[in-house]
Amino acid sequence: MQVIRSTRAIQRLALKWRRAGHKIGFVPTMGYLHGGHMSLIRRARRAVGPRGKVVVSIYVNPTQFGPNEDLSRYPRDLIGDLRCCRAEGVDAVFAPSDADMYPGAREGLFSTYVVEERLSARLEGASRPGHFRGVTTVVAKLFNLVQPDVAVFGAKDFQQAAVVRRMCADLNFPVRVIVAPTVREPDGLAMSSRNKYLSGRLRIQATVLWRAILKARAAVRRGRGALQAARLRAELKRFIESEPAARVDYIEFVDPLTLKRVLRVSRGTQLLLAVFIGRTRLIDNARL
Ligand code: AMP
Repeated sequence: MQVIRSTRAIQRLALKWRRAGHKIGFVPTMGYLHGGHMSLIRRARRAVGPRGKVVVSIYVNPTQFGPNEDLSRYPRDLIGDLRCCRAEGVDAVFAPSDADMYPGAREGLFSTYVVEERLSARLEGASRPGHFRGVTTVVAKLFNLVQPDVAVFGAKDFQQAAVVRRMCADLNFPVRVIVAPTVREPDGLAMSSRNKYLSGRLRIQATVLWRAILKARAAVRRGRGALQAARLRAELKRFIESEPAARVDYIEFVDPLTLKRVLRVSRGTQLLLAVFIGRTRLIDNARL
């Protein structure tokens, strides 16, 4: 497995692989890898086949963090991550520095961004201004560097996957975007690097996101026709905030394709949740 730190070196390697006829499968991550990331790596391998090359990027992208967010304390473990990637048969890990990814940023020279203007506006975009501008910019840069045929994203970040798909369609990136299912802990909590922030008591309360999803699903099945979104939202908010450390940021019911809010909830509606458990902000989502 090659470990590559420089943007020039990864681009050179990717171009060499492409010229030699290898397909490239790409999994962008911020590291501190867990079972969710591993499932994306396996999906990428399956997509490109044994002759293909799988590239994982590990980069905590500063431009997608707001000024009051957890950039400086975001968990990192490059040695452990490299061990995981090696065990999965990854061909190359790309772990660049900020100075290489954003040349001239300190001097105020870096000044080109990619902005998706519709799907990014609400939900995570409303709660985290600038977040998706950072995501689309870094993903576009990574696609130019890694030159993937296929890129795998997790359904855990539902809106992110939709925004990246839109960006590829709108800007003609020749990349097939695959969205892989959310991997959960045995008690239902969606795996996330940020789960590291949760101590014993908070970790138990964090399962309330999954329990709320199950509750919403049960309501939809029981209700047969359509339910009023506002009523179900209020019920879920009460349920979630019955945990002492939980505070709802948003509970939204949307059309899974347009991400537009629906007033009536029925089978196939997408539920998206953002909940603070103490100081840790968790997101989850599911098709009802
Ligand atoms: P992150 O390192 O959190 O930026 O995530 C990198 C990629 O892994 C993104 O495409 C995420 O959606 C995906 N991912 C994160 N957690 C999970 C999970 N529990 N199951 C599946 N994919 C995930």
